[in-house]
Amino acid sequence: MAKLEKLVIASNNQGKLREINALLAPLSIEVIPQSNFNAGEINEPHDTFVENALAKARHASRCSGLPALADDSGICVSALNGAPGVNSARYAGEPKSDERNNLKLIEALKNNSDRRAYYYCVIVLVRHADDPQPIIVDGSWYGEIIDQPRGEGGFGYDPYFFLPEFGKTSAELSAEQKNLISHRGQALTHLVEI
Ligand code: IMP
Repeated sequence: MAKLEKLVIASNNQGKLREINALLAPLSIEVIPQSNFNAGEINEPHDTFVENALAKARHASRCSGLPALADDSGICVSALNGAPGVNSARYAGEPKSDERNNLKLIEALKNNSDRRAYYYCVIVLVRHADDPQPIIVDGSWYGEIIDQPRGEGGFGYDPYFFLPEFGKTSAELSAEQKNLISHRGQALTHLVEI
């Protein structure tokens, strides 16, 4: 593969953009958000993370004329048969709201002692909009859902995602710690290796 010099990130989620930028910082690649090309968000109609990520990457690449990277991610809760899953961003409906999503999740788990959950992230990189060989990597990060929020870091479900081995939620980790071990960090590490 020819050396990548510029890469468009197919997201308008500030939390994700911060993490992806930090993880790609050591590479000498100019990372550009898709908002620079007025590329609005596309629908995410698919039932799988990988299909949604591929659609987002192709869209960003088509709008920018550059290679593009997209992440599709979510939280999968055992007691809810994997929900919110691909619907994590809009679990409590439109408009997207982390606060309402978290309230809905805690309500759904009321009186349920099975708190196992994992974050999942798939990252797709396309070299051009019609790339027939996208690079696809993924990562999973296991924890438990707690009822009371803890911590100010991260975004989304992080204040409720507890990591027993640290005795902390992912919102209580530093940005650097989270990036080292998170689902997104794992996926990006694989991508950088490739
Ligand atoms: P999408 O990939 O844009 O469809 O949305 C992913 C959604 O999953 C986010 O809006 C969050 O609700 C949730 N999510 C994914 N990764 C994380 C994370 O690292 N921390 C907290 N929430 C996350």
